[in-house]
Order: sequence, then C-alpha cells, then structure tokens
Amino acid sequence: MTRLAELTTIRVGGTPKELLVANTKDELVSSALKVWDENDDWFVLAGGSNVVASDTLSHLSVIQVKTKGIEISGNRVTVQAGEDWDGFVTLANQSGWAGIESLAGIPGTVGAAPVQNIGAYGQEVSAVIESVEFLDYQTRELIVIDKEFCKFAYRDSSFKQGRKGIIVSVTFNFTESEPEALQKVSADVLAQRAGKGMVLDSKDHDTWSCGSFFTNPFVSESFARTLPLDAPRWESGEEVKLSAAWLIEHSGIAKGFSLGGSKAAISSKHALAITNRGGATSEEIVELASFIQTQVGNTYGIYLVPEPNLLGF
Ligand SMILES: Cc1cc2nc3c(=O)[nH]c(=O)nc-3n(C[C@H](O)[C@H](O)[C@H](O)COP(=O)(O)OP(=O)(O)OC[C@H]3O[C@@H](n4cnc5c(N)ncnc54)[C@H](O)[C@@H]3O)c2cc1C
Repeated sequence: MTRLAELTTIRVGGTPKELLVANTKDELVSSALKVWDENDDWFVLAGGSNVVASDTLSHLSVIQVKTKGIEISGNRVTVQAGEDWDGFVTLANQSGWAGIESLAGIPGTVGAAPVQNIGAYGQEVSAVIESVEFLDYQTRELIVIDKEFCKFAYRDSSFKQGRKGIIVSVTFNFTESEPEALQKVSADVLAQRAGKGMVLDSKDHDTWSCGSFFTNPFVSESFARTLPLDAPRWESGEEVKLSAAWLIEHSGIAKGFSLGGSKAAISSKHALAITNRGGATSEEIVELASFIQTQVGNTYGIYLVPEPNLLGF
C-alpha cells in the first residue's frame, strides 16, 4: 500500500486504510459517496503540497483527486479539480487570460487552489474565480457555489473553514492581455521563487516542504507599534499584516536551523519553510513547527498559525 510520504511534497505520512484514486468526475463522486456512506474518517488529497500527514493513518480513507478536463468558452474557463495548477497557468498565459500569471510555480492542483485561496506576488486566485462546483457532504448533491459564498480571504475560504465536501471543478472568468506580457511576469516570478526554494525540485531538499509553513499574522495597529521599527508591516484595513519570516528569523531561528538529531530543518533559503532533509518523521516536522511557535510567541507575543493542513495529529 502507498504511504502518504510518497504523495506529499514534504514526504511524510503513513499508509491509510484505503486509497481511492479518482481519474474521472464519476469516479470522484462514487468514491466520495462510498466512503461517506461507510461513515469512515476521510480526507481529500490532491497534489499533496499543503499537507503534513501523520505517520499513523490506518483509520483513514483517502480520496485522491486526479480528474482532468478543461472547457473553454471565450474567457470563461471551467477546469476539473485534478488538473495541474502550474500547467494551467502556462495555458492561461498562452491564451492571454490575465489574473494568474503571478501564481506560476505554485505546486498542486486547480481544485485545491480555492481551498486556501492561493496567493503570491500580489495576486490571489479568488480574483478570477467565478464559481466552484462542489460535491456537498451534508446533502450528497453536486452544487455550484458562486464566488461570493466561498468566503475568500487571505489564505482562507469556507472550504478551509470546515465546509465539508469535494471541489469537483472551478470556473474562472479572465480579462484579456498580451500573452508575451503574461509570460514575462511568470518567468520573473519563477526566477524569484526558485531562489527561495519555492519551486519543486526533487534534488533540492529545500523544496521538500509545504511552501510557507505559517501564514503572515495580522495584529492591531497599537500592537504593531510595540514591535521593533525594522519589522516589516503592511496596513490592511484596521489591522496590520506582519512578516512571519521576519518574526522567525528575529526570534533567533536562522535559515537552516534544526533541533538536535532531527531530520526536519528550516530551509537554507527561506525562514518560512520547514523542510525534510531526507527520512524525517512527521513528528520531527511538527516538533520543529511547535518550537518555532513557542520561540516567536515568547519573543514577540504572537502566535503563528500553520498554513498547511495537519492530518492525523
Ligand atoms: C514549494 C511550495 C511552494 C508553495 N508556494 C505557495 C504559494 O506561493 N502560495 C500559496 O498559496 N501556496 C503555496 N504552496 C502551498 C500549496 O502548493 C497550495 O496550497 C496548493 O493549492 C495545494 O494544492 P494540492 O493540490 O497540492 O493540495 P493538497 O495539498 O493535496 O490539499 C490541500 C488541502 O486542500 C484540500 N483539497 C485538495 N483538493 C481538494 C478538492 N478537490 N476538494 C476539496 N478539498 C481539496 C485537501 O483536503 C487539503 O485540506 C506551496 C507549496 C510548496 C510545496
């Protein structure tokens, strides 16, 4: 049986009770209904780039989303959940569909993109999503959820907040732009991401990660004034967004740091990525994450919230 370590980019995770691979929409719906009717503990896995799975998962049924298909009607495009995200960005750029060019190089699938409203370099996917086709756990029905009901926010959505079910497809509505201009933006972004270990490369342990392990925290203006002047900050409504990477490094945790004897370490290129140096256990990943939370909490009084889904802890 396959271990989730083989299906996740941080390469930890044990063998689930069963793994149901869905290659078509029909298979996806029938696998979900089967698992739900059996009342099993279940989890939807796609590209595995935002999941830290426990090494003990023998109680869990995992549905793996590998559905493919893209329907194009002008600038309105419907994409099946299992399509590769970065491949879709390439197609969008070639087609002159603007709005996701800065999201090049993010691993994973189209169906997972709305879950945490993926974002990078000033863009968020929610800006171009029109609706999401969703197999609802409560009703067992396929429904279409318009964007305004998805509760998109910074790295957040109703799907991340516990709305149970499976995203089957995503419909985008793009504006038009010049393909060459879009391709240039993506190329620039990819170069910057590679320098930070944020583009998957099986030979580079700095990319055996979930990307950023913590979201950037939001604090009140008055709290932000208590921080050192050189702490990066961005106004966001009545709150102030801080840099989690800065907080980690300035609480005394350097790039490359690891706890004694552990095979989990901070990336040597980016303080916000926890990486597997080869053979790390899920416990080692989570221990390092807890250590960082404690260190930042003790130094600045801020609790860093993990960005990836912690499965089975
Ligand atoms: C090197 C690296 C760089 C990264 N850079 C970024 C970045 O710049 N910005 C960013 O936002 N993220 C980034 N990420 C995180 C990750 O790539 C994204 O969150 C991505 O969207 C996850 O897609 P996935 O298919 O791998 O989802 P998975 O990891 O398989 O799943 C993630 C979550 O979504 C749920 N899910 C997946 N598919 C579905 C579905 N069809 N229906 C319902 N729920 C579903 C899963 O249950 C899980 O809770 C990075 C990760 C890595 C490893």
